This record gives sequence, C-alpha cells and structure tokens, in this order.
Amino acid sequence: MKIADRKQCTGCGACADICPATCISMEPSDEGFFFPYVDSSHCTDCGLCGKTCPILNPPEKRFPRNAFAAWALDASVRTTSSSGGLYSVLGEHILENGGVISGCRFDADLVLKHELCDQPGGTVLFRGSKYVQCFPDGIYRKIKQELKRNKSVLFTGTPCQVAGLLNFLGHPYDNLVTCDLVCHGVPSQKIFRSYLERHHLSPDPGRNVIAFRDLKGWGDYYVRILEGDNLQWRSDDATNEFIRAFLSGYCSNEACYDCPYARMERTGDLTLADFWGLGKEIPFSGDPSQGCTLILVNTEKGEKALHSIQDKLFLEERTPEEARQGNGQLRKPIPRQPMRDVFYQMDWDTIARKINYRKASPLRKLLRACKRKLLDTLERNKNK
Ligand SMILES: Cc1cc2nc3c(=O)[nH]c(=O)nc-3n(C[C@H](O)[C@H](O)[C@H](O)COP(=O)(O)OP(=O)(O)OC[C@H]3O[C@@H](n4cnc5c(N)ncnc54)[C@H](O)[C@@H]3O)c2cc1C
Repeated sequence: MKIADRKQCTGCGACADICPATCISMEPSDEGFFFPYVDSSHCTDCGLCGKTCPILNPPEKRFPRNAFAAWALDASVRTTSSSGGLYSVLGEHILENGGVISGCRFDADLVLKHELCDQPGGTVLFRGSKYVQCFPDGIYRKIKQELKRNKSVLFTGTPCQVAGLLNFLGHPYDNLVTCDLVCHGVPSQKIFRSYLERHHLSPDPGRNVIAFRDLKGWGDYYVRILEGDNLQWRSDDATNEFIRAFLSGYCSNEACYDCPYARMERTGDLTLADFWGLGKEIPFSGDPSQGCTLILVNTEKGEKALHSIQDKLFLEERTPEEARQGNGQLRKPIPRQPMRDVFYQMDWDTIARKINYRKASPLRKLLRACKRKLLDTLERNKNK
C-alpha cells in the first residue's frame, strides 16, 4: 500500500472509495483536514489506492481550447451564485433531462459533504462556493453506480477531486461531464466552525444558507448567514478574519501550496472560475458587476455541454491568455505564508490581531498597482 504523504495529500478520498478491502477511511487530522487512515490489519496490499491517487498518478490534463466570459440570464441565479451561476445553469439542464448532479452542502452537524441530486431545481442545494475542504463521503462510488445505470452525471469539484474521480473510474464514460473549479486552496472545516463559534453563530443548514460571497459587488468576500432572503448575519471588515486568512493563504491544506493542478492544463471537461482581469486589455461588451464566470472549454464533451445551455447565458468568447493573466491560480499555487506554521495553534484573538484590517492609503494602493503592473509585464515577457 502506497498513498501520498500528508504534505502532498489533498484529501480527495479516491483511495478510500477504491479500496476493495474497505480498510481506508477519511478522518480529520488535528487541524481538521480529511486524510486517509489505513487499517493495515485488513490491507491486502493490492496497490489500488496508490494507482488511484491523483497526486502519485495524475490523470491527463488538457490545455483549454477556448475561454468564455458568461453568466446566467436568470438574474436570481446569477446573484445567488459565486461568480456568474454557470454551475446552476448546466446543472439544471442535466436534471431537466433526467440526469444526476453532484455538489456539496453542509449537513445538520455543519459538515460540508459531497452529495448527489436528481431532482429538477436541485442546484440550489449546492449553489455557491464554500471555502473549506469538502468531505468526499463516498461520492466516487455513488457516481460510478449512476453512470452504470446510464444516467448523465455532472460532477463539479476542485481539480484534485475531478482527478480523483477520473482515476477512480479508470476509463472514460460518455455520460459523465466534469467541471473543475480554479482553486485557491482549502482551509479545514474545523477552523471555519471555530470562526463561527467565535462570533456566537450556530447556523442551522436546514433553514440557513451559509454564503461566502456577496454579489452586490462581485469580488467581495464576506461570510453571510441567510434565512430565505433575509440576511441574519454578515461579517464586516472587522469580523472578516476567516476570509482574510483564506485569501492570504494562511490556513490552506499543506498540499494546496504545491498543487499540481494550479495551472492552465486542466482535468475537467470545463473549468469554472471568476473571470478576474476581464476586459483589462481587450474591451468587453457586457457589464460583469453582478458576477461573471470564466469558462475554459477543455474537451469536445465540454464544448457540447456549453453549447446545450448557450440560450440561457450571456456568453462572449475571450482568450485563454486573458484568463491566465487575470487568475493567479491558473499560473501557480498560492504561496505558503510563514504564518501557516503556527496558524492552527493560534486562537482567533491572536489571528485577528495579526491580520488586522488596515484600510490601504492612496499611496499604498498606487504602489500595489505599480507592483502588479510590473509583475504582469515580467510574466508576459517570460512567456514570449
Ligand atoms: C475552495 C474553492 C476555491 C476557489 N478558488 C478560486 C480562485 O482562486 N479563483 C477563481 O477564479 N475561482 C475560485 N473558485 C471558484 C469560484 O468560487 C466559483 O465556484 C466558480 O467561479 C463557479 O461559480 P458559479 O457561479 O458558476 O457556480 P457556484 O454556484 O459557485 O457553484 C459552485 C459549485 O462548486 C461546488 N463547491 C462549492 N464549494 C466547494 C468545495 N469546497 N469543494 C468542492 N466543490 C465545491 C458546489 O457544490 C457547486 O457545484 C474556488 C472555489 C472553491 C470551492
């Protein structure tokens, strides 16, 4: 038995699902990240876990054929999604045609898990990015069962999870469409729950939606607790410690800092992300202020899937290069910050003090903009 070590393991869970002796379980570490634990007394040394691991045996990655800026024409979908609502439009199309979609949502104990749904309208259950590691919960086995029943399946997840699924399945299925998300890295669920406790929040996932984005201004990241359309709590600049720690790369799973999937070559049929940097160099015809998804089309299957929903979208072709320029995690993993060494040992008061919100002065903003421009120019010259 050979599985990726803790520093490399993304916790995708494919090894646990493939194990014929069911002796691998996904358990939380002290920091709260899910890792495989092997009961070696039952291990038959078949080696399937290592063969299935997307870190030890990465599946084929493909450079995008085209890139699009897009959003759902249905404004209620667009403004409740993380970027432009592409996942929901595609997911509903699959459901309306008798297929099955995967997605993740918090259960009653506030554990974020992958699930399947076959009911039209079901995308609302999974809509929105949750910026924590998702517990796989046997999803790859469940998907294989659906594929064998000839159901069309849409799987959406981080690129390591898509890679885990492809390795688990072992061969292509015509009835499977995969969407990988451009991924910044994942904090643990434990640290997120402790953040909620710090602010005396105990959302009930049966009634409440926990959202990590606020599309009133696309690009804003805040934790929000909603009941129906009513906002019950929203972090502000002073209480946004979790988001700041996530975005600064202080609390990701160790494997995320060396992620082999943070690059242009992709695992999914489609890639979904925020279209950062849109229109910076080449003018853009639409108004992205209510959310805009970057779609990278990586395979013929992805092309067909996009074609099947185009009448429900605002869609404008852009270039993969524009996408790459604007989105850091299409170029490299987020850098590991020295504070990561001690982050999970610190209490929230100390964390909040260390990453305290300071409004940038105009001079600081100007220096930052110059630095960004300089780095962009260097990067572009490097790739000439
Ligand atoms: C942990 C994480 C990090 C991300 N980092 C970046 C980034 O650095 N740059 C960027 O441009 N985009 C990033 N994204 C993607 C972005 O937030 C949007 O999800 C994407 O643009 C699609 O938006 P949408 O409006 O089409 O769909 P949405 O409605 O946002 O649908 C999201 C889909 O993602 C799934 N999902 C949500 N949370 C998770 C999770 N924790 N693990 C696995 N699947 C999940 C949902 O089940 C659903 O299927 C990240 C997403 C996640 C989950």
